[in-house]
Amino acid sequence: MIPVSAGVPAEIAVPAMPDDDRLWVQQAEGVWFRPLMLNTVTGQWCNLLKVTRAGIVSRHRHPSAVFGYVIKGKWQYDEHEWVAETGSFVYEPPGEIHTLRVPEDCTEMITFFNISGAMIYVDEAGNQTGYEDTFTKIQLCRDHYGANGLGADYVDQFIR
Ligand code: FE
Repeated sequence: MIPVSAGVPAEIAVPAMPDDDRLWVQQAEGVWFRPLMLNTVTGQWCNLLKVTRAGIVSRHRHPSAVFGYVIKGKWQYDEHEWVAETGSFVYEPPGEIHTLRVPEDCTEMITFFNISGAMIYVDEAGNQTGYEDTFTKIQLCRDHYGANGLGADYVDQFIR
């Protein structure tokens, strides 16, 4: 084997869909995420988003590109005509502002997202109401895993 340079971070290879439901971290009513990679150097993070209710999930702006792959169910952005369904790939360009909605005939959607920088939450006028980044995600995981028995440091395996 060719030796790997010192300082190269460890790889991550895990079943994306967890056997243990405790891995899903709640971020809002009916909205959950499962962390896969939380990068504190580049600000990128990868996670599964699970929504178990219909309706608006959030309205947000992306400063950087987002890549998604729908694993289960379907969802749409009110600003666009298309519906992302099971098996769909989605590219969200930087600068996009959109309102994520799960349609009434979908009881559960799960989507892989690769996000960089931040999710900037906005109101109907486009004013910022909140944000998330890799660090707020890490903190949510620490709080959730600390409280449910996995231990706050369970998230460390996903941090790079
Ligand atoms: Fe988005």
